[in-house]
Order: sequence, then C-alpha cells, then structure tokens
Amino acid sequence: MISIVIPIYNEAETLPLLYSRLMTVLPALQDKCEVIFVDDGSSDQSLSIMSGYVRENESIRVLKLSRNFGHQAAITAGLKNAAGDAVIIMDGDLQDPPEELPQFIEKWREGFDVVYAIREKRKEGVLKRMAYHNFYRILDLVSDIKIPLDSGDFCVLDRKVVNVLNNELPENIRFVRGLRSYAGFKQIGIRYERHGRAAGEAKYTYKKLIKLALDGIFGFTLLPLKMATYSGLFVAVSSLIIGLVFLMARFFNFPIFGTHVQDVPGFTTLAVGGFFLGGIILLFMGVLGEYMGRIYIEVKQRPLYIVEQVIENRQPSISVNN
Ligand code: UDP
Ligand code: MG
Repeated sequence: MISIVIPIYNEAETLPLLYSRLMTVLPALQDKCEVIFVDDGSSDQSLSIMSGYVRENESIRVLKLSRNFGHQAAITAGLKNAAGDAVIIMDGDLQDPPEELPQFIEKWREGFDVVYAIREKRKEGVLKRMAYHNFYRILDLVSDIKIPLDSGDFCVLDRKVVNVLNNELPENIRFVRGLRSYAGFKQIGIRYERHGRAAGEAKYTYKKLIKLALDGIFGFTLLPLKMATYSGLFVAVSSLIIGLVFLMARFFNFPIFGTHVQDVPGFTTLAVGGFFLGGIILLFMGVLGEYMGRIYIEVKQRPLYIVEQVIENRQPSISVNN
C-alpha cells in the first residue's frame, strides 16, 4: 500500500481541485492507496470539505490536530499514522503537482528508499525566491550533513525510512528534509517544476519561514557556536598584539600613525573597540540563546502535535493488527 500525507491549513479553496486531480492520478500508481489529510487547525471550511471526501471515499482519512502546530509537525503526525510501504509527502496547495507521483513511485519501485523532488523554476515572488536560494546554499555550507540543494518536503519515503523518522529521530524541533537526509539509505532527487499555488495565500508567513530556516541551520550544525570560539580567539589574539604594540610605544616612545601614545586621549580606539567587542558579544549571546532555547524545548518533551480526532470511513471489522 502507498500512503499520501498532505498537511492542510486553511486550504478550502484548493481542496476540490486537489481532490479531483489526486483521484485521477491514484490509479496510475498501481497500488492500494490511502490519503491522509492532516488538518493543522484550519479555521475555514477545510475540515468539513475533507470530512465530505471521507464519506464518499474509503481510502481517505483525516487527522485533525487540536490546533495549528505548523507544517513540519503536521507532516510528522501524518508519517506516524501512515501505514503504507511507501509514504508520499506533498503540499496541499498543488505546488507539488500530483501528476508527478507516478514517476516518483516508479523510482521507489526501482529500489530507491528516498525519492525527493528538486524544485526548479519556482513561481514565488523574486524576494522569496532569492531568500530560498540563498538559504539552501548557506545551509549546505554550514550543515554537518549533506542536505540536497533546493529540495523541499515533497518526496516518497520507503517504510524503512519512515520507521527511522518515527522511531529513531524523536527530536521535537523538526526540519523534515534535513532528518530525511540524515536517515541515509538510497536516495535520489528528481527535478520538477514547482508550480504556483492553485488558490489562496501562502500559509507560511515570513515569520514561520524564518523559524523554519533557523531550525534547519541550528538543528544541523554547531558552526555558529564554533564561530564564537574562533572570533573570540581572533579578537583576543589581536588585542594582545595591539596591546603589546601600545605598551612598547609608551615605553620606547615611538609614534603610532604619526602620534605619540601619551599625547592622545585615544577615544576613537576605545570607542570603536568597545562597540565592536560589544557587538560580537551580543551576537554570540544570541547564538547561545538559540541553542539553549532549543535544548529547553527538547528537554520539556512536550508532544509535537496533539491529534484531536481521526475521521475515517472504515467498514466495521475485526482488526487483525492490534
Ligand atoms: N501548512 C500547514 N500548517 C502551517 C502552514 C502550512 O499544514 O502552519 C500546509 C499548507 O496548507 C500547505 C503546505 O503546508 O499544504 C505548504 O504551505 P505553504 O503553501 O503555505 O508553504 P510554501 O509553499 O509557501 O512553502
Ligand atoms: Mg505552497
């Protein structure tokens, strides 16, 4: 069986089109399919529309989260509840076209454990495109593991990988595309043209995007912390050298930049030095704070999401599994 996990947050406008395009494509997957819509606390008609689909179609299930937990948490909830031998993750706004799925599944059948999509020709605005572009390159530069450039969450995961994500990687702050790379196994990227949204506004606000970017970076590298050490070292060593030079200038009475040390109040040097050091210290206190905050969140071990209700249309039968 193949599971398709689709996080949905206020997508009432796109759902009908998504549903009809999905239903047209599913037969081409040549396997039994289940669709899991994860309702991430939608406040529009999304839930009732999806409940309608459940009534008319047994292969649809809706996982209603108790509030908006965010895209990554919604995906995680879907993965936990998917039963398929392969699990597809895709967005609900048709930016990931369902028509690509047969070729993804084809690769999975060939033996790849992770088939991820590489986004080409994005349809977002210039600013967002540039931000994405740079983010993936920075992440690649600093991250300890190789996370493919421009790959989003759109992918097929083999059961093996889903089990690893569900059971072996319990961390709370989730950057799914990074964890997916971390898991390893046989991975392949497929290029696809990322479409514009079918309807409605992006549900990722800039605030959410920045949070995602920071989770990606702080979750996969300690480099910012190391930078504190390196720049601390650099500032300390250079101050030592500068200090020695000034001391010598004082005692042997030679000029620096044409003036004698004892004649100058030295305000500029002190002010610039002070501001510079203050800036660096504040910056790295912020970095420390980012890591500490993340440790705090992980330590609290709060659930990543809360499932309020599972809406499904199963014939009552004796369960064999449990
Ligand atoms: N989404 C979600 N919870 C959120 C934000 C988004 O479940 O808090 C869903 C949304 O409904 C969509 C997918 O995640 O199916 C991607 O969201 P969006 O299109 O806003 O992201 P973008 O395409 O801008 O990256
Ligand atoms: Mg989108």
